[in-house]
Amino acid sequence: MNRTKILVTGGAGYIGSHAVVELYEAGYQPIIVDNFVNSQESALNGIRTILGTDIPCYKIDCANEAAVRGVLEQEKDIKGIIHFAAYKAVGESVAEPLKYYQNNLGSLLVLLALMPEFGIQSIVFSSSCTVYGVPDQLPVTEQTPTKPATSPYGNTKKICEDILNDVTAAGKGQLRTILLRYFNPIGAHASGLIGELPLGVPNNLIPFVTQTAAGIREKLTIFGDTYDTPDGTNIRDYIHVVDLAKAHVVAVERLLAGGHADVEVFNVGTGRGNSVLEVVNAFEKATGQKLNYVIGPPRAGDVPAIYADVTKATQELGFQTTTSLEDSLASAWKWQQTL
Ligand code: UDP
Repeated sequence: MNRTKILVTGGAGYIGSHAVVELYEAGYQPIIVDNFVNSQESALNGIRTILGTDIPCYKIDCANEAAVRGVLEQEKDIKGIIHFAAYKAVGESVAEPLKYYQNNLGSLLVLLALMPEFGIQSIVFSSSCTVYGVPDQLPVTEQTPTKPATSPYGNTKKICEDILNDVTAAGKGQLRTILLRYFNPIGAHASGLIGELPLGVPNNLIPFVTQTAAGIREKLTIFGDTYDTPDGTNIRDYIHVVDLAKAHVVAVERLLAGGHADVEVFNVGTGRGNSVLEVVNAFEKATGQKLNYVIGPPRAGDVPAIYADVTKATQELGFQTTTSLEDSLASAWKWQQTL
């Protein structure tokens, strides 16, 4: 089988590893680059076991132009890039903004600088619903105005979108770009062989929930229950990570088929909003585990409610999610039990 090569930066990370599996299963040859700062080499073992084959992986920093050039020279005929590699901790980005700007902007700039030289015309970029800030209207469509970022992390996503818009426009059709604005990815591969590997105390809700159920954390603190939402807790759009990974496959297919002259933006969520309390209840129902939780104060910078309108991805990419919230949470629990 002659597989089209796709460079996957951050391919050993949480979303990246699931995308590598989906790409390979769809007939592509993923080539991973990852610096393993926020990922572990065990993800490669999981990928290998799922696929029954090794996926090439280069342990390099994507912001290092010489190192990325070396990979592109070695692999020669890469046709597209999915750019996941980025730092992603909101709180840390406030404490160490320079690290975030250097890495998240630097790696994109390196890729964009090298793409023409190696004849690579297609890029899918991992953006985030954080670009919508506190939206004036729900659900958010791709036309919903973006808002100034509330953290350096969020700002790197916004600036990377701006860079891609400018460079794509100047490229006169030589660069084809899809921005995927992720909502909240959760869960793990059905095999239980790859999943999220948070370092230290998790910032995100679901790993905190599963670690609490596993007895690693004493209790979950729900960050506020007096928001202007039906039960007072925050609302998010939780998408199963394999559904999200599949969006990258259809995005790559669209770009390689000729894509679109302008940057295309797609929300990737389920279109469903669930409150933190609903997540807790769904977790208990799906797993039979009782979750110890308390209500705490709101977390600074949290958006009260956001969820996606996914009409555009459905109509134009043929994208559809298939995993319910409960099944997503059950997969997260299955994964937790392997750790
Ligand atoms: N959350 C919570 N307790 C936690 C972690 C998160 O109540 O220990 C809430 C948080 O306030 C937000 C939702 O869970 O409403 C999702 O948070 P997460 O950090 O996973 O994603 P975010 O939407 O902030 O990117």
